[in-house]
Amino acid sequence: MKPLFSRSLCSLALAVACLANADANAEEKVLNLYSARHYQTDEALYESFTKQTGIKIKRIEGKDDELVERIRNEGAYSPADVLLTVDAARLSAAHELGLFAAVSSPILEARIPVNLRTSDWFSFSTRARVIVYGKGAVNPEHLKTYDDLANPRLKGKICSRSGSHPYNLSLMASIIAHQGEVRAEQWAKGVVANFARAPKGGDTDQIRAVAAGECAVAVSNTYYLARLMRSDKAEDRQTMDKIGVVWPDQQGVGAHINVSGGGVLKHAPHREAAIKFLEYLASDQAQRYFADGNNEWPVVVGVKIDNPALEALGKFKADSLPVASLAMYRAKAQIIFDRAGYR
Ligand code: FE
Repeated sequence: MKPLFSRSLCSLALAVACLANADANAEEKVLNLYSARHYQTDEALYESFTKQTGIKIKRIEGKDDELVERIRNEGAYSPADVLLTVDAARLSAAHELGLFAAVSSPILEARIPVNLRTSDWFSFSTRARVIVYGKGAVNPEHLKTYDDLANPRLKGKICSRSGSHPYNLSLMASIIAHQGEVRAEQWAKGVVANFARAPKGGDTDQIRAVAAGECAVAVSNTYYLARLMRSDKAEDRQTMDKIGVVWPDQQGVGAHINVSGGGVLKHAPHREAAIKFLEYLASDQAQRYFADGNNEWPVVVGVKIDNPALEALGKFKADSLPVASLAMYRAKAQIIFDRAGYR
């Protein structure tokens, strides 16, 4: 609002210069953020950024698809500076639509590992997709890899969320990247043949179904597990008592990880502020917010975190497949899931 106020103080003769000045101020002091992250703990992130830089964040929250659609419709007139969302498949979809601008930042390049960034979007936190099983319902020795989920010995035992969901599409994309399309399709068919019920609900619903004995095995993102572990509700902790968690593929390529991330938009009116914001998200402080607040792992190596649930989940080997590869096989993943009847 400040630039408008100072504009009104300008004399007529100086109006043009003042307008230019007001625009320069706007360039410095405001950031329009479109965010599909709906985590209360992100508030603290935005507040500290404003405190440190004086740049006020104007946030528009929405569902990922709606925000992307909005940015497309706004076109060259879009006020959006930064898009933040979760999942490599979604970030890559925004990239393919040409929404992001290339960013070259020595800070981002130094702090974010190369497999977790692209030329125009960057990961700021990671989450792993792990196998969850009912204690006593299956032998965890039979659940060491994602491949094991397709083994006929699990017939009638698997619960899943939809195959169209980005989390499953990204997992499938990683399987295509590592094993090729033919084996990936065999895998999808094997998992479908093991379903206890048609896919429905979110990751937490699958965890609860396993704990309730409706099925014996599911996959889930780690932060849903951490959330239940840290919950104040006794029933949530009871749910966790009934299940075991397996880090898949520890003797192989490592557990599939997905990311949350974002990029500067092509028509960003405040490009400098936008880059500053991304650099802030890679700072130690912001990285700790992701970990301690939302139970995700920092992308920056060596950041000290304080989250008992993440510690309880333990150390693991993560798949180092570049996020760009997940993006590359996203469309194929959907085609294969459709063909396999993984809906
Ligand atoms: Fe989620």
